[in-house]
Amino acid sequence: MTPISLFGLPEQAPHERVLLATDPATGLKAILAVHSTARGPAFGGCRLWHYESEAAALNDALRLSQGMSLKNALADLPFGGGKAVILKPEGQFDRPALFAAFGRAVQSLNGAYITAEDVGTTTADMRGMQAVTPYVSGIPREGAFGGDPSPKTAWGVFVSIRAGARLVLGRSSLEGVRVALQGLGAVGWHLAEFLHQAGAKLVVADVDTAKVERAVAQFGAVAAHVGEILAADVDVLAPCALGASLNEQTVPAIHAKLIAGAANNQLATPADGDALQRRGICYLPDYLVNAGGIISVAREYRNEGEEQAVMAEVSKIAERVEELLQRVQAADSTPARVADDWARSKLVRPA
Ligand code: NAD
Repeated sequence: MTPISLFGLPEQAPHERVLLATDPATGLKAILAVHSTARGPAFGGCRLWHYESEAAALNDALRLSQGMSLKNALADLPFGGGKAVILKPEGQFDRPALFAAFGRAVQSLNGAYITAEDVGTTTADMRGMQAVTPYVSGIPREGAFGGDPSPKTAWGVFVSIRAGARLVLGRSSLEGVRVALQGLGAVGWHLAEFLHQAGAKLVVADVDTAKVERAVAQFGAVAAHVGEILAADVDVLAPCALGASLNEQTVPAIHAKLIAGAANNQLATPADGDALQRRGICYLPDYLVNAGGIISVAREYRNEGEEQAVMAEVSKIAERVEELLQRVQAADSTPARVADDWARSKLVRPA
């Protein structure tokens, strides 16, 4: 694992604030990382995960929160970037009590950080926190939009794949385009539905074999081994499981010419983005294509618009993909590096 520098990973700007929150009564151990509030309060989900070490959890919180700054900036949201991770307690635990304690930690930041769902957390967890803090989103509202951001994230990834297929692969539609999907969770499953409806041919893998069997039955997908999905003989690769899937070991074996997926922090290091480019593979940066969920919860938090308006805003991600690819050509650089510079130039308060 990359060694940690508490005041900024080598490739990152320093974080404004990092809170280590504990609550012995509930077993809460959480890290709330506020990377930037330059554009507004730091907004980003909360992950509940079993980490191999506290250092790994801190590393995740620091990287994910920086990613949120870039994601929110590129999506033109009036929010900065933050993220929280809760170290999953061993054995049985009182989930509502744990999230109430986490909600109190969020509240202690007085609005500098706003939370929502991420891997391992649910709309019920978010609803439970409302009793202790208003700085929470991703809660279904009766007769209105809001709640689970995953379908919106999937839609953003889908329109990105569609745009990338046109611009990179020269395909006018997704009919017959072969897509490998790593992870059939909340986002991956919705993405599989959209792709199937558009006529794409799916190759899928998930550690949960029941999900794979369902995808085979429902979408006519081909099942792949989890260890082989990244190297599948396809046109497009959509990583929708966990981070760092694009690394020294996996990049040389990738066949797809386009990569666009929901997982955060797909590149293990910036050098892996360069290696993809050298192999003629176009990697659309994760935080550009997976912004649909944050767009949804941000609108919900601000009580703005309705379902159709959210979907229209998420669909604009495709325009940004197009602009990014134009910028890449002009800069003679990689999409990951150009997107980073583009996003960093927007880390200022919107006019
Ligand atoms: P999820 O937990 O619902 O789904 C993840 C899926 O990946 C699960 O089905 C899991 O079994 C599977 N998986 C885990 N390890 C795997 C492996 N090695 N190979 C194949 N499958 C594996 O999570 P999600 O909400 O669908 O999010 C997926 C990714 O997208 C995460 O990285 C998350 O941070 C990111 N993301 C999610 C959202 C959102 O709206 N949910 C928004 C932005 C980014």
